[in-house]
Amino acid sequence: MRKPIIVGNWKMNKTIAETKEFLEAVDPYLEGIDSCEYGIAAPYTDLYCAVGLAKNLIIGAENCHFEDSGAYTGEVSIPMLKELGVKACVIGHSERRQMFAETDEAVNKKVKKLLDNGIMPIMCCGETEEEFDAGKTEEKVRRQVAEGLAGLCPECVKKVVVAYEPIWAIGTGKSADKDIAEKCCWIVRDEIRKMYGDAADEVRVQYGGSVKPGNIKEYMAMEDIDGALIGGASLKVDSFKELVDATK
Ligand code: PGA
Repeated sequence: MRKPIIVGNWKMNKTIAETKEFLEAVDPYLEGIDSCEYGIAAPYTDLYCAVGLAKNLIIGAENCHFEDSGAYTGEVSIPMLKELGVKACVIGHSERRQMFAETDEAVNKKVKKLLDNGIMPIMCCGETEEEFDAGKTEEKVRRQVAEGLAGLCPECVKKVVVAYEPIWAIGTGKSADKDIAEKCCWIVRDEIRKMYGDAADEVRVQYGGSVKPGNIKEYMAMEDIDGALIGGASLKVDSFKELVDATK
């Protein structure tokens, strides 16, 4: 049985004061819920505060570097996140791939290092609108999964969460049809099955892209969708609580 996992991706939003306000309102709201896991991925500057206040929410970072330390100005390493008490980390988000040149090779190094340090990788994949229109979704998603998750052990891959996020659905309000989302999450799992056999049945696969309280249920009802990665709708306390109400 895969326990669903819903994670808010805050992107470059929220100060420490805003993080405190959010955690104080949302974290107690999750008390006693056992059917689903909830988390947020927050900017580095908010993590110390968030970890300190979270009793129920999984606190994640939005990126990391794969080296432990060194001359990488502006970067944050995985041991630094571990020391903070961070439990998850989003990697390979399309915004990082497109704007900050994150490659599948770097994603793979990050996945391995995160697992070595006991932090849950949330690895994103997904196609552009042009790729979707050209019928290249499957090819792209299979490649990103194969390269991003290469060289793990089957026990390790079970600890990875994969987020399928069609780029054309991110922040656009144009969410993917539930059947398309299901098909792509199935493709993710099928590629993992090719690599790691039945371990694929234990990997949680999220859908992401304009998920909101009004449409989350239809995604969660699909067989291969085990949760969601949510940007815009995860930022406000009320909206996050509505996401919880719809999924707990
Ligand atoms: P969105 O973002 O929910 O605002 O579309 C999703 C994401 O980027 O993970």
